[in-house]
Amino acid sequence: MIPLIGITTKRTDLQSIMPTHAVSEAYLRAIQRAGGVPVMIPASLSISQMNALVSRLDGLLLTGGGDLDPALFNGTPHPSVYDVDAERDNVEIHLIQQAVQAGFPFLCICRGIQVFNVALGGTLYTDIGSQKPDALKHDWFPGHPRDYLAHTINVKPNSRLSAILQSTNTEVNSLHHQGIHTPADGLHISATAPDGLVEAVEIPDHPFALGVQWHPEWLIKLEPMQSLFSALVRAASE
Ligand code: MN
Repeated sequence: MIPLIGITTKRTDLQSIMPTHAVSEAYLRAIQRAGGVPVMIPASLSISQMNALVSRLDGLLLTGGGDLDPALFNGTPHPSVYDVDAERDNVEIHLIQQAVQAGFPFLCICRGIQVFNVALGGTLYTDIGSQKPDALKHDWFPGHPRDYLAHTINVKPNSRLSAILQSTNTEVNSLHHQGIHTPADGLHISATAPDGLVEAVEIPDHPFALGVQWHPEWLIKLEPMQSLFSALVRAASE
């Protein structure tokens, strides 16, 4: 059976006559290349609708996008917080809590790793540049190529991530102005940037629960980055 991978979507043009649910094609291609079939999950589902959908899926991909509402993690409001969508926050937090509890395979990217952390009780920097004085530049957007390799990461040996990437040191893109401040209980840090910022987390005793702060979907020409999607699809087919 070909695994069905649910992919979360963002909503755009909410104030216009044609509100739209959308996802970057790069995620879809990465899942298709890995042998899965992507299924877009609307950000407007009720809990019972979401449960009905998830029960037919084999894995989940939480995508990037705007910021979580800082109120969800008692975060410091900041003028740079953008594109907050309370319904999307609720849908994604519920999906993660269910997937963690049920041992359902999932991969979280960028905003996704932040949802992963907040859903389990962790906190975020609402703006790294103004709240972490020793930080590198992580917000290489807009105006930079999506695949620009901005900084290295140190990957923890013996983590799921190091097994997938086959490396403990690699370069990644960096398209985020927020990041994990306090990791939730139960989350293991599996990669950090040179400034100490968390770049990946995982739950070791879960079938597949992994979050990365960078955007591997823009880097799938690099074999280790495509491997992240292949590993998700493989876990979803088991
Ligand atoms: Mn980064």
